[in-house]
Amino acid sequence: MTAYDTDNIFAKILRGEMPCHKVYEDEHTFVFMDIMPRGDGHALVIPKNPARNILDVDDQDLVHVMATARKIAQAQIKAFGADGITINQFNESAGGQVVFHLHVHVIPRFDGIALKPHTGQMEDQDILAANAEKLRSAL
Ligand code: AMP
Repeated sequence: MTAYDTDNIFAKILRGEMPCHKVYEDEHTFVFMDIMPRGDGHALVIPKNPARNILDVDDQDLVHVMATARKIAQAQIKAFGADGITINQFNESAGGQVVFHLHVHVIPRFDGIALKPHTGQMEDQDILAANAEKLRSAL
């Protein structure tokens, strides 16, 4: 498998070299809003340690990422009144992965509302900021 690229976008966000709408961080994980959300409140959970995807991530880092994903899912139910949550996680190009630092998509779902396309349209920055604030308040 291809080696981890330290210049991927999410590594730059972790190092503070690229902006993001941050929601949460702890010792092992970092959470921010997806810039092209498939639904209102779509967040990404990443490990702080480098990992390309599920094929090379350390077991404990994966546990930490999923525990944080659940925390965010619970906050999304509260913050957005979501009816459900969709979790997505893609591996390698053939698996739909575009950014090569492991990430878990946590997407609030609402009865009768379909997901928008993956990497579809860029969201307005003010909306991303407002949704990040709502999520932070619900944690
Ligand atoms: P994938 O690797 O297929 O899971 O897709 C990468 C995801 O990252 C997509 O949902 C993009 O909208 C999202 N994304 C790409 N660049 C950024 C960024 N700078 N900030 C937040 N989300 C991003």
